[in-house]
Amino acid sequence: MYINELEKLSIKELSEYLRAINDKNQKESIDSLRSYLPKESQIVSRETIENRLLRNLIKDYYNRLDLEKVKEEFLVKGLLNRNQKLEKGLPKDILIYGLELLPADYTPGINLCPKAGTCKDSCLAFSGFARYQSFDSSEKELTLNVVLKARARRTFLFKNDRKFFEEILKMEIEYNAFKAKKANTRTFFRLNVFSDINFTKLIKELPEISFYDYTKDWKRSSFSNYHLTYSSSEKVSEKDILSKLESGSNVAMVFPKVLPEFFKGFKVINGDINDLRVYDSNSVIVGLTLKGTIGSKSKKVNSFSESSSLL
Ligand code: SF4
Repeated sequence: MYINELEKLSIKELSEYLRAINDKNQKESIDSLRSYLPKESQIVSRETIENRLLRNLIKDYYNRLDLEKVKEEFLVKGLLNRNQKLEKGLPKDILIYGLELLPADYTPGINLCPKAGTCKDSCLAFSGFARYQSFDSSEKELTLNVVLKARARRTFLFKNDRKFFEEILKMEIEYNAFKAKKANTRTFFRLNVFSDINFTKLIKELPEISFYDYTKDWKRSSFSNYHLTYSSSEKVSEKDILSKLESGSNVAMVFPKVLPEFFKGFKVINGDINDLRVYDSNSVIVGLTLKGTIGSKSKKVNSFSESSSLL
């Protein structure tokens, strides 16, 4: 089976196909699924089917959204989340608010990670509890996980009413920063948890508030209240990486299992301990270990060619 043939399958067909592949005891049901496919087809990998299904589910959900309802929802409950993963390993008086959208080109008509390469197939946006969609027993189809649905609605709002989106985002950031100051806590904002949008203008309008990001946009720059860690990918060369490090910037890199102490003469720190990068020394490699996401298992890791899944 070829990828373009896979695109022709409905969500139901893809769901059943995947269910059979997941059910190791029912080899015969996998065989029966071949009835969906042209005779000359070959079977594609499970990761490819999962990815196609995910894209179809997102598209199906996204195309049914109503802008007025989505605006009303986020006006009331806000766009930011305090995600446990972002605060993991940090002292209790540090709060991190993140903006979670859907990455890359997973939503129709917009690409929120213009510099993404192969990382979009193994992005952490689809890992953990959000990794998979639950079965709907009555329909015998997979449905989109509630977490991914919320990210799809935020992305929909970003695409369809950017002005409104930025207005409520700015108000929410200011309110949370004010609350944190009153409570004597340190607060940081990460606006690209699963995206790579240039929010420079908005961040510059809030000079008293601290932001950080990982980015694959190597032309973007840090400034006083915005800390950037550059993510390596197959699109940047070893020379580019070394030159960033030599200039004092930090670069995040994925390693297969164990982090080395040094790499190409630069210190490697453990980026898995916590997500907050603003206290890192300059000119360090932020080492990350490969996470289990859709697609990551089939990827080979090469220090200078593998992308960061954290960005
Ligand atoms: S790894 Fe980063 S750049 Fe790549 S798709 Fe995910 S959020 Fe976007």
